[in-house]
Amino acid sequence: MLASLLATIEQGLGPSLATAGNVAFLIGLAVLAYVVLAPLIGIVVEWQADRIGMEREWIMHCDTCRKTTVVTGSACQHCGQSLGIPWTVRLQHYFGHGSEPHWLRVFRWFYMLVGIAGFAIVTVAALGFTGAWSPQTNIEKLFVGLSMLAWGGLGWLLGRVLGIGTGGPISRIRDAVFCLALIAALLITTALATAARPVEETIVARVTVDGQVAQLGSKATALAGYRHVTPLAVIGTQRIDLPLGEREGDIAAFLWKHANALTARGLAVRKRTDQFAVTQSGIYEIVLRGHEISIRQYASSS
Ligand SMILES: [Zn+2]
Repeated sequence: MLASLLATIEQGLGPSLATAGNVAFLIGLAVLAYVVLAPLIGIVVEWQADRIGMEREWIMHCDTCRKTTVVTGSACQHCGQSLGIPWTVRLQHYFGHGSEPHWLRVFRWFYMLVGIAGFAIVTVAALGFTGAWSPQTNIEKLFVGLSMLAWGGLGWLLGRVLGIGTGGPISRIRDAVFCLALIAALLITTALATAARPVEETIVARVTVDGQVAQLGSKATALAGYRHVTPLAVIGTQRIDLPLGEREGDIAAFLWKHANALTARGLAVRKRTDQFAVTQSGIYEIVLRGHEISIRQYASSS
């Protein structure tokens, strides 16, 4: 239902969807790249500053000696007089011990790297396994782009919710609420992208019908009365097995051989036969579309 609606939209809007699809896909990719690369670059720059011993410190003007001093405690580094910092400000910033202990900094980098690597692996696996990396239609490309955008935003926000030193409890709760909204957007866009993907067609075999004879490869069978076609075999007066994959064939053989035992266990094993009247001479295709088998005329005989 949804799939056919999306296919209709695709056909109706056609080329005008192409631009929207391309733009959404590129923006989605750019956001994913940003979410992975920006924190990596941040770690490298922090590491470079750390290596040369650069620290982030508070500084202020001393009212007594008029010099600029680094705030390491309550007194001026130059004249030793009190700087008059209110105790609430001192409590909030906890002066005098550097901005962040070195071990915490190294642990934070490691923690971030694990998070970034996890996000990157899940992203690449999801794009690869679902086929989202190569969208088949413009409308699918559009929704894949939007879902990459939602996923990138979710990754970025999760970094803030779960990160070390990325904010207080209130801002984390707020970001977590935004995460829920992005998860909803991700689920909707992914479902639409999946529905917009055309079902893959496999041509199982081509049967050439000439008068009262059906030919499959080098084998031929005379057609008599009804013509039955399944992806397992073509049945006329004779049975011609279709070329099945080895594993596929083994599964079919196993199921049929153990049909009684499987039925006793509550499973139904049936051989399904589709009837198709071959009224005209020509070439017919047996098509496997998703889980449906159908037959269509490929060419009529000249
Ligand atoms: Zn001073």
